[in-house]
Amino acid sequence: MTHQITLIPGDGIGPEITEATRRVLEATGVAFHWELALVGEAAQDKFGSVLPEPVLQSIRKNKVALKGPVTTPVGSGFRSVNVGLRKSLGLYACLRPAKTYPGAPVVRKEVDLVVVRENIEGLYSGIEFKKGTTEAARLIDFVAETSGDRLGKDSGFSLKVISESGSRRIVKFAFKYARANQRRKVTAVHKANILKFSDGLFLSVAREVAKDYPDIEFEDRIVDNMCMQLVQKPELYDVLVAPNLYGDILSDLCAGLVGGLGLAPSANLSDELAIFEATHGSAPKYTGLNKVNPMSLMLSGVMMLRHLGEKESADRLETAIAGVIAEGKHVTYDLKPEAPGEAAGTSQVADAVIARLGS
Ligand code: NAD
Repeated sequence: MTHQITLIPGDGIGPEITEATRRVLEATGVAFHWELALVGEAAQDKFGSVLPEPVLQSIRKNKVALKGPVTTPVGSGFRSVNVGLRKSLGLYACLRPAKTYPGAPVVRKEVDLVVVRENIEGLYSGIEFKKGTTEAARLIDFVAETSGDRLGKDSGFSLKVISESGSRRIVKFAFKYARANQRRKVTAVHKANILKFSDGLFLSVAREVAKDYPDIEFEDRIVDNMCMQLVQKPELYDVLVAPNLYGDILSDLCAGLVGGLGLAPSANLSDELAIFEATHGSAPKYTGLNKVNPMSLMLSGVMMLRHLGEKESADRLETAIAGVIAEGKHVTYDLKPEAPGEAAGTSQVADAVIARLGS
C-alpha cells in the first residue's frame, strides 16, 4: 500500500531536514506518495497567503502530513503558520516524547517522558489587543467596571482561554495514550494556585477525568515546581499533560534533558488528522549549511510510521537512528560537544541511517 502524505518543507533549515527525513523513510521500504505543500513566506510570495487553502485541503484529504519548521516573525508581521495550521485543522493534542538514546550528550540518563500539550487554547488563543487601540481601551474600561482594577493605558493584552470541553478532551487524550502505551502515571501541570479560573478549571477537569482511569496513577504539579523536579528527578514522571504554553516550555526542557532539540520529535493530532514535525523551529542562522541535526524530524517520522500502522518499519528506523547516535561517528555538532569540528552534516546523517537500514 502506498501512503499519501502532505509534505511541507517549511523554511530555514526545514527543507534540509525534510529531505533527509524523506530519504530515510523511503529507505525503510514503505511506499509513499508525497504531495508537496508550500506555507510561510514562500507561499505568501506565490499564492498571496502564508497558509493557502489548498494546503489545508491536502492535509484534510491525506489525513497525514510531515512538516518542516516555519519561521514566525517576532513581535510583528504575519501570525504563526504553525498555530494557524493547528487551529484550522483542530489539532488539539501535541504529543512530544523525550527519551534518552545511549551515546547522546544527555543531562539525565534513562529519561522516558511524554509531554501531552493542549495545542489550541490557553495563551495561544490568538486573541490579542494591541497597546493604544480602541479595543484595548474598551477592555481597560471593562476591567475597571467589573473588577475595579485600573490598568495602565500603555498595556497590551493576550487572552488566556481555557475551556472545560478543551481541558476534558486533552486530559482524556493523555489517559488514553497512557493506557494504550503501557504508561503508569499521568501528571497534570498547572498554576492553579494563582490562575484560579483558567488553570483551576483545567485542574478540576483533570481530577474528574482521572476517576475514569483507575488503572493509571494521577497526580498534579505546579508548573514552576515541575520544572525543577524534571531536572532533578525525571524518573518520577511519565506522561505530563499541560495547557498550551506550559506544554511548549516543558517539552523544550525535556528535550534539553535528553540531548537537545535535535532529538525532540512531535505530533500534532486530532481524532482524524496528524501533522508530524520536529519540536524545534527553523533555526534561520543555519539555513543551507548542511549542519543541523535531522533526527528530531526523523524520529517524528518514526511516530508517523507507527501512526500509519507500519510498526515493523518504525522499529527498524528507530533502531537505525539509535545505532548512529550510539556509534557517535556520523552525528551533527549538537551531539558532538567535545569535538564539533568532526561533526557530520545533515545529509551525511541520513546516509548513515540509510546504511544501517540496509544492513
Ligand atoms: P529554534 O528551535 O529554531 O532554534 C533554537 C536553537 O536551537 C538554534 O539556534 C540551534 O542552536 C538549536 N537547534 C534547533 N534545531 C536544531 C537542530 N535540528 N539541530 C541542532 N540544533 C538545533 O528556535 P528559535 O531560534 O527561537 O526560532 C526560529 C524560528 O522558528 C522562529 O521564527 C520561530 O517562530 C520558529 N518556530 C517554528 C516552529 C514550528 O515550525 N513548529 C517551532 C518553534 C519555532
